[in-house]
Amino acid sequence: MHTEGPIFSRIPIGLNAHCISIECHIAPGLPGTTIVGLAEGAVKESRDRVKSALRNNGFNYPNGHVIINLAPGNLAKSGTGFDLPIALAILQASGQVNIPNKENTEFIGELGLFGELRPINGILTCALASTRANKRLVLPAQNEADASLVKDGDLLIAPNLSELIKYFGGHEATGVRAPKQQKSAACPVKQTTYRQIIGQLNAKNGLLVAAAGGHHLIMLGPPGAGKTMLARSFIDLLPTLNDQASLEVATIYSSIGLERNDHAKVPFRDPHHSISSAAMVGGGQQPQPGEVALAHKGVLFLDELPHFKPATLDLLREPIETGHAVIARAKYRVSFPCEFQLIAAMNPCPAGRSCKEDGCRCGPSQVQKYRSRVSGPLLDRIDLHVQVPELDQLLLAKLQKQNANAEDPLPRLKEKVKSAMDAQLQRQGCLNVKLSGSALDAEIANANISEKFLHRAIEQFHLSARSYHKIWRIARTLADLDEQSIISEANFMQALNFRSINWEADSF
Ligand SMILES: [Zn+2]
Repeated sequence: MHTEGPIFSRIPIGLNAHCISIECHIAPGLPGTTIVGLAEGAVKESRDRVKSALRNNGFNYPNGHVIINLAPGNLAKSGTGFDLPIALAILQASGQVNIPNKENTEFIGELGLFGELRPINGILTCALASTRANKRLVLPAQNEADASLVKDGDLLIAPNLSELIKYFGGHEATGVRAPKQQKSAACPVKQTTYRQIIGQLNAKNGLLVAAAGGHHLIMLGPPGAGKTMLARSFIDLLPTLNDQASLEVATIYSSIGLERNDHAKVPFRDPHHSISSAAMVGGGQQPQPGEVALAHKGVLFLDELPHFKPATLDLLREPIETGHAVIARAKYRVSFPCEFQLIAAMNPCPAGRSCKEDGCRCGPSQVQKYRSRVSGPLLDRIDLHVQVPELDQLLLAKLQKQNANAEDPLPRLKEKVKSAMDAQLQRQGCLNVKLSGSALDAEIANANISEKFLHRAIEQFHLSARSYHKIWRIARTLADLDEQSIISEANFMQALNFRSINWEADSF
């Protein structure tokens, strides 16, 4: 009979990781193993994996009744990450191993039947939490890529149980070491899609403004006009993620076991319109991030916007406003960051492609019904509205020829976006999409625009208060792209153009 101080571990819940302590008590009596402390599913199966791993590595599995207690008892525990700490607790309680400095160390990892350590989801969340708590974290070698993003952590990776035990004993152990900084997997240099888009200057200009000011954008036009290609090329205009943003994004991906092979790359998510509400904003038995969170610091592209369920689209409003997706269930309440840019696209009528060839045969009421699936409040939150008309074949051929000889405009545009962003951050600490309150009022007061002109614009375009402020934000971005400190009438007029589509009547 033997008990010892606990072994510590972590459990990721949402983007937090809680400390768990694991005690093992070996009581006399019939052989058997009981795990107590709100252990669910995979944790209970841990018993069999741990037993095999210990036996296959030359250790004894205790003969008496093994009781494993996971504390705190009120926190539901799931997942496979407790295998390693449970194995260590058993080895310690049965006097087979001595773990140095275990008060300040946390262990996490799934065990294979032969003792190999397998990766777990949410390792980045755990590594950050352990680091904040000034603890060392021992984790599976296969989680190295994610763990290496934690710059100032005391992390140790191990390939399997037996090497880790050798390491404890002060012996030479293969593969037990600190994670190495990973070289980001060099993505094959792809030809930028931006360059391949012929014409569509208005849409391209809209994308440039959206990129520079962090604005949301919707494109309206017939199938085949290039809306999808434009949306995909959008991330080419954006600067790569800085270290802090990379880490935030990687933490979200790591929580569901998704690995990003290039951490600096701007996320691009394009869920199909059949997506469920839970998959869009997050949810599930265990809190899981949705598409909005996976698009954090990047782009959420919704093609064929009116085909999404109206209820799902309505759920986007709050994340767009607040930059957070809050998921509340009976068992938990978690919040995932989701500062994404929404790029949406839609056709003029429900039939789309078939109407394109022979002219639209959808009745006005059908068209109306189709468009009204996208609610006014959602449209109101999308800053830029741009038309993407179909180009005439002759014109297209001519432009194609010109385009072949022209130099790639992308490097210059990227530069422009970057310096416009820098100007905003330096001036107001945020991008123009978030400009509000006194900072926005000051821009309006300083603008070089006559009262008369403004009044005319408000009346002619029936601007709501929300629209009015959005137009000023867009105008501010246009001024930043022109490297102007004051918003001009021309900036304001151009901004108005980005919100001038009449949703009921225009045939776009
Ligand atoms: Zn039609």
